[in-house]
Amino acid sequence: MKQTVPFLDLAAQMRPLRQEIETAIGQVLDECSFCLGPRVEAFEKHFAEFCGARHAIGFNSGTSALHVAARLLDLKPGDEVITTPYTFIATSWAIVYTGATPVYVDIEDQHFNLDPTKVEAAITPRTRAIIPVHLFGHPCDLDPLLEICRRRRVALVEDAAQAHGARYKGRPVGAIGDLGAFSFYPSKNLGACGEAGALVTNDDALAKRARSLRNHGSPVPYAHEEIGYNYRMEGLHGAILDIKLKHLAAWNTGRRRVAQRYQELLKNIALRLPSEAPWAGPVYHLYLVRHPRRDALKQHLESRGIGCRLIYQTPLHLQKCFAGLNYKPGDLPIAEKTAAEGLALPMFPEMTEEQIQTVATAIQEFPG
Ligand SMILES: *Cc1c(COP(=O)(O)O)cnc(C)c1O
Repeated sequence: MKQTVPFLDLAAQMRPLRQEIETAIGQVLDECSFCLGPRVEAFEKHFAEFCGARHAIGFNSGTSALHVAARLLDLKPGDEVITTPYTFIATSWAIVYTGATPVYVDIEDQHFNLDPTKVEAAITPRTRAIIPVHLFGHPCDLDPLLEICRRRRVALVEDAAQAHGARYKGRPVGAIGDLGAFSFYPSKNLGACGEAGALVTNDDALAKRARSLRNHGSPVPYAHEEIGYNYRMEGLHGAILDIKLKHLAAWNTGRRRVAQRYQELLKNIALRLPSEAPWAGPVYHLYLVRHPRRDALKQHLESRGIGCRLIYQTPLHLQKCFAGLNYKPGDLPIAEKTAAEGLALPMFPEMTEEQIQTVATAIQEFPG
């Protein structure tokens, strides 16, 4: 079956930028600034501004940025971190890489984010941090989490890997908590031509230590104050991301336009659409719908050449790699139901009205 609407069309994003990106790549080749360097510094400065943060620190992936966030909190074996079971697994890697234990709290049913009303009950004397995710680009409700963090003296790390430019009560997400991690994996709202990530923070000391940890724990060459990593961002990615960053706001507007058209066209259908909280400025990294006959709907759409995907069909608390945490089916019912019923529809800024209507018509014609 020929594809009529792709799930994501990265080539459409690249086409108009191709020349500018090639020129920038040429400059990096001329300068030979391949690891960190001036292009990464320029991007860090611009990305910090975009996030309304004092500091942005470039990484070689979002996973590395999250790992360093966990190191910055000095997490160690025996520590507990409250987090969401319904996300990409890298959120939890950050915790387990330090030897700390993820404590999963169920999500809320509206925006698929960690449910702040259930967090308090999960706090113990060992709790050191809360790591929520702004999933699919919809910000989680940070104020109640920040209130708990202040009162209980625990840290808040935002996993903003899917939420570049999303707003919570008018503020860009990322630096609202102590630290925020971003991914620039190619399919993210802002994507590199390869792997990259960033941490943002308003805390000068955390930023300084983050720069050291990503660079072998050495604030100056060959002096290693603590065990660090080679997690540096590459110059080519800095140059490319700096070009793409200028288009991010318009791309996010494009994603919101697609979401709004879906909302209008799919109004009368027995399908649960994502909703927006009144305080949220979401950026629709993905558009997840829910249907009790999800697998049949997926087959139906694929038979018409429409790209759609299962996302997180096994929540993290039921993953084999975390069997040692001893969760069982039924422990986190909303995450499990969302995992069973969720289907991501095509979503990208360049989607045409015709493509949107093709998807909507196909869904309309799904029997049942
Ligand atoms: C993509 C993603 C990550 C990991 O980022 P990489 O750049 O792929 O390492 C972490 N958390 C979430 C929620 C993500 O979507």
